[in-house]
Amino acid sequence: MRNLYIDFDGVIMDTITNSYKMIKELGIDLNDSEKVIAFYKELNWEKLLNESLEIHDAFDEIDKLIKSGKFHVNILTHVTSLNEAEAKINFVRQKLQEISIITVPKSIDKARMVQAKNSILIDDYIGNLEKWKAAGGIGVRFSTKLNGKGFQAIAYLNQIIELVKDGEMV
Ligand SMILES: [Mg+2]
Repeated sequence: MRNLYIDFDGVIMDTITNSYKMIKELGIDLNDSEKVIAFYKELNWEKLLNESLEIHDAFDEIDKLIKSGKFHVNILTHVTSLNEAEAKINFVRQKLQEISIITVPKSIDKARMVQAKNSILIDDYIGNLEKWKAAGGIGVRFSTKLNGKGFQAIAYLNQIIELVKDGEMV
């Protein structure tokens, strides 16, 4: 079974829309990464998750992926604080039992946290996909508009099944 890693923010849950709105209301420049990270560190993630929308039936789609038996499915998500890690783990566990949830410190590349080689990463952030590819992994961009930006793109998580035949990417 091939290892499949799925990003969380912007792929499973739209935590972006609400948090960017809060950042703008605070007058923080979105390009000021130090201030943006500080904002996310102090954020009440439990509240944000409860107020954010699920993207394209993500939990149902993941459940189907697990049941297909084609992948070893994991969630691989960057976190800025222990509160964020705890909130995400508790949130996912309410919906899915048979999945590993791997939280990665924001300062560490996802490709350094787990073995990327020959594994698939579904992520909406091109920077993560490029590093994943450089480490020998297969990057697939999640985009509701199917904009791959140089990578194969999917808009529903189940579409990964069509991209992998007999265990190989097509
Ligand atoms: Mg993301």
